[in-house]
Amino acid sequence: MRINVDRDICCGAGMCVLTAPDIFDQSEEDGLVVLLRQPEAAEADAAREATQLCPSGAISVADEED
Ligand code: SF4
Repeated sequence: MRINVDRDICCGAGMCVLTAPDIFDQSEEDGLVVLLRQPEAAEADAAREATQLCPSGAISVADEED
């Protein structure tokens, strides 16, 4: 799994940070999403949930074989 975030369409709602705080953060400067790191296998469900909860569709998931 590989996560991508698009800061151009993030609206700073913070759902991703609430759902997967080890993977996502919000910038203290502009409140927009910051991708901390790629999710580990055990975090895949949380990462997918964050993707679905994001109101602006700023998070995308690409499945790939590791
Ligand atoms: S949930 Fe979406 S809109 Fe909200 S901070 Fe995260 S990426 Fe941005």
